[in-house]
Amino acid sequence: MGYNVAIDGPAGAGKSTIAKLVAKEKGYIYVDTGAMYRALAIHFLKKNIAPENTDAVIDACGDAEVSIRYEDGAQQVYLNGENVTSMLRTEEVGNMASKTSAIPQVREKLLELQRTLARENDVIMDGRDIGTNILPDADVKIFLTASVETRAKRRYDELTGKGEACDLEQIAKDIADRDARDMNRETAPLKQAEDAILVDSSHMTIPEVVSEICSHCR
Ligand code: C5P
Repeated sequence: MGYNVAIDGPAGAGKSTIAKLVAKEKGYIYVDTGAMYRALAIHFLKKNIAPENTDAVIDACGDAEVSIRYEDGAQQVYLNGENVTSMLRTEEVGNMASKTSAIPQVREKLLELQRTLARENDVIMDGRDIGTNILPDADVKIFLTASVETRAKRRYDELTGKGEACDLEQIAKDIADRDARDMNRETAPLKQAEDAILVDSSHMTIPEVVSEICSHCR
């Protein structure tokens, strides 16, 4: 059994940035479960399936094979043998993943992959339901959050830093919509596990958050 750190929280809270740094400091493998939902989303997009067409989404799960490999320590996601890592982080894919991740069969499809990685490795795994559902016996559970305003401003700065035009209010609305979908779905909704440590990063720097989380880990 590996040593398991679960890190859950809403979109844009900085989970992946923080988890990567904690993984480096502690020598864990960083597992990004959102990337797995995004890989399935690419599969549905390739097939031109609307996220509202639940039957077609479930059907399409049958011929999707998602797997994870680590190359130079970085997670690479494969969809039916193709490395799709560089295609994961677009708004289109994110929206499809956000909608289809509410479907129980989609979640079921990825459950064993996530549990196997945690069983066989020391991991810090980020997602929405890791501490509550995937790894209920994780050694450490963190619920990392920040206000909608803070998360929207970080995303805005990231995009404008890359020279992409964007609108702060629209970003805040998208984040609030994503929160609502994640928290209100029936299967494995986003919520803080009873035994999770709450970290609100709204007024913390990245090194402060990393140090706070590391202090709870072996
Ligand atoms: O974290 P990320 O934004 O990459 O995740 C993409 C989408 O996948 C999220 O909007 C969320 O709805 C879903 N997700 C999930 N459970 C996880 C990880 C991600 O439902 N464990």
